[in-house]
Amino acid sequence: MRRVALILGLLVGCGRAPESGATPDVPPSEVAQSEGVEIEEPEGELGEASAAEPQVRATVILIPLRSFPDDLLDAVEQALQSELDVEVERHAAVELPKQAYYPPRKRYRAEKLLDFLAQYERGPDTKVLGLTEVDISTTSDPYPDWGIFGLGSSPGTTAVVSSYRLKRKPRDREHVRSRVATVAVHEVGHTFGLPHCDEQAVECVMLDAEGGIENTDTSSGTFGPKCRALLDLLAPP
Ligand SMILES: [Zn+2]
Ligand SMILES: [Zn+2]
Repeated sequence: MRRVALILGLLVGCGRAPESGATPDVPPSEVAQSEGVEIEEPEGELGEASAAEPQVRATVILIPLRSFPDDLLDAVEQALQSELDVEVERHAAVELPKQAYYPPRKRYRAEKLLDFLAQYERGPDTKVLGLTEVDISTTSDPYPDWGIFGLGSSPGTTAVVSSYRLKRKPRDREHVRSRVATVAVHEVGHTFGLPHCDEQAVECVMLDAEGGIENTDTSSGTFGPKCRALLDLLAPP
């Protein structure tokens, strides 16, 4: 049990299949040290060039793993920019790593994809988001291999989102774009150290998927006030 708790503390899997009852909350201890962040007043005279520089929280590099449709990439880029105040860069597609393939279920292990994506890191202010159309999975005790929507290291620099399960029974294509964008904001939110939250009243994007598509479909796609404040503490823009 202890080993599982540690794994869940590092990797927060989201969107497990309906059988899963796991709700891996990350203990708040990891974020407790963020109090006391000081905001320095800019020096210099009013009207200097500093005001023209847009402030961004981080740069997120989008990396299609094998392939990812352009309209979904566009939706992810727009959502990350507007919800997380990040700069987005697009990397050329790269082939899925063989070492992440899981033959018994013919799909890819998400935590191994995160290991693979780590080679594209460029420092603490850069996040790497892999995007793929293939099915991905991870371990969710007691199940050795569970299909998921996405996985993000928390806190960390890498995350991965799969459209495979998000393409099931959509109302239309816009519905798929909306789901993929919501999961991308959620997983990148984890990389900034945000745990799952309890802001059901505002349908916060950091609610646990809790084993189905429903919470993704009802998500506001944006951060509730608690998560917004925590994000600003953990990663000031
Ligand atoms: Zn999550
Ligand atoms: Zn929240």
